[in-house]
Amino acid sequence: MISNSRNLTSFIPHARQITQEDVQLVSDFMLKSKKLLILTGAGVSTASGIPDYRSKGVGLYARSNQRPMQYSDFLENDENRKRYWSRNFTGWSRFSSVKPNLTHNFIAKLEQLKLLHWVVTQNVDGLHQRAGSSRLTELHGTMHEVICLQCQKIILRREFQDILSKLNPNWTVKSIQTAPDADVFIAENEVMKFNLAKCECGGVLKPNVVFFGGSISKDINEEVRQHVDEADSILVVGSSLQTYSAYRIISRASDMRKPIGIVSIGETRADHLASFKISINCNQLFENLQLSAYS
Ligand SMILES: [Zn+2]
Repeated sequence: MISNSRNLTSFIPHARQITQEDVQLVSDFMLKSKKLLILTGAGVSTASGIPDYRSKGVGLYARSNQRPMQYSDFLENDENRKRYWSRNFTGWSRFSSVKPNLTHNFIAKLEQLKLLHWVVTQNVDGLHQRAGSSRLTELHGTMHEVICLQCQKIILRREFQDILSKLNPNWTVKSIQTAPDADVFIAENEVMKFNLAKCECGGVLKPNVVFFGGSISKDINEEVRQHVDEADSILVVGSSLQTYSAYRIISRASDMRKPIGIVSIGETRADHLASFKISINCNQLFENLQLSAYS
């Protein structure tokens, strides 16, 4: 009997109803694997109330004309950094209070049961960790840390919020809309009143994430490559694989003849490389997968 996920939110794109065949397909795929690597994207966090970028109708790009800041713009001047940090500061309390959902919990449980080799996530929301995953690489970094571009010192983002609060005691702008990276949209005249924090060394502080137009560190690339090479199959969950860094993982696995399964609503960049692709809601899938079958 197929059951329906109860916590669907307005950020989840429309998908067809899941079938028993879908459940069987993914179940067989996972059972066959001895070293499964799961690659996740924004689609696993939409049920937690974080919109993705690209989904038809409900993604950020469909909802607004605003686009995430490019790395070169962030580096360019204080005005752009004020724009970034004032919005991030405003969106933080909502962004940091979101909870892992059924998919994050299911993946964490797989690890606990030693049924999972590794998770690679494109998300910067920290929800896999919060659910208990530790065999995890955050491909694009994490919003839960801030790094100094000069001395590389790392500060916890929640502690940084206090620093920003002290520097901006009268900052009361209400956030209008949240994006996948804690960004919100605020009027320009308000933005310019925002006071930036600098590192003790005078360096520029940036969230410890890979911006659009930025690049992934060699260490992270190497770590991911190693885990992909060790894995015997790859399951993509909730990603359109539009960013090259994610597509490259699948393309490498495909070159190595590893079976690839994709569970994601809408077209992905690697549909042609997959052994199967099902366009369904991942929470509905994991709700119907029996973990007992794996132990
Ligand atoms: Zn510094």
